[in-house]
Amino acid sequence: MTATSQKRDGELGLVATPIGNLGDLSPRAADYLKGADAIACEDSRITIRLLQHLGLKKPLLSYHDHNADEMRPKLIERVSRGERIALVSDAGTPLISDPGFKLVREMTGLGLKVTALPGPSAPVMALILSGLPTDRFLFLGFLDAKSAARRAELEEVAGLRASLVLFETAPRLTTALADLRGVLGNRPAAVARELTKMFEEVRRGSLQELLDHYTQAGPPKGEIVIVIGPPLADAGPSADTLDDALRKALKAMRVKEAAEAVAAATGLPKRQVYQRALELKQEMGGDA
Ligand code: SAM
Repeated sequence: MTATSQKRDGELGLVATPIGNLGDLSPRAADYLKGADAIACEDSRITIRLLQHLGLKKPLLSYHDHNADEMRPKLIERVSRGERIALVSDAGTPLISDPGFKLVREMTGLGLKVTALPGPSAPVMALILSGLPTDRFLFLGFLDAKSAARRAELEEVAGLRASLVLFETAPRLTTALADLRGVLGNRPAAVARELTKMFEEVRRGSLQELLDHYTQAGPPKGEIVIVIGPPLADAGPSADTLDDALRKALKAMRVKEAAEAVAAATGLPKRQVYQRALELKQEMGGDA
């Protein structure tokens, strides 16, 4: 225990660090790191670079997905003894698709003090730059790498009236966009990459336009966040227009084909259109 930590109660500070531009570390976050007894971090090589930028030397405690269960009691013990521990991730806000949630749950459960030094976070920056509605959004983190599982995850949220924010890797961008287009319909979206860095770029367009662009241009370099607007039903065809289109299609086709044709024409999610097609088919007195 250091002399400083004897004079104060122990606490855990969740410290947001830059997502690319070192200038984004807040003065309060820098002060907190200076005053901390130790810093728990994911990759010490990355955190050392940040500390060098601040001219600091601090004991580093490694806390990542593979040793978290073993390290958690040790960190809790140190805070219980009165130490001030800072938790940082490699970039951005700790706990956001990064380790720390279980540590916070356990510490708060034990009545230990947890505070946060807010700052950069890629999903929020991408959302506010996307030009898409910000009043309601759902952060999905990384979706499954396999297409079938990813599509199932998207089906679960397709009907939500909210913007969706998710992380994706550059090599998987086009297959992810194809799944997003297929399950959610042709919604407005944005691909934000290299945020706060030299080659920062936000490309906006419909999911189909973005898919066409990256299919042609090839996978972009760098780190990526995808933002997708809410279902088009709000701005798209009214319920009556949808019903009219479906009734017409149902006279000529089976339910599945009719739903597919109308979903493609309106950009509405297939599942939503299929559900409505089943209801209308029943009202019209026919079998699916
Ligand atoms: N905790 C971080 C935060 O608050 O931003 C997110 C950590 S998550 C493990 C890493 C992912 O965040 C990357 O794969 C990428 O999708 C996104 N990301 C991080 N930095 C980014 C940047 N500068 N530009 C775009 N996306 C970024």
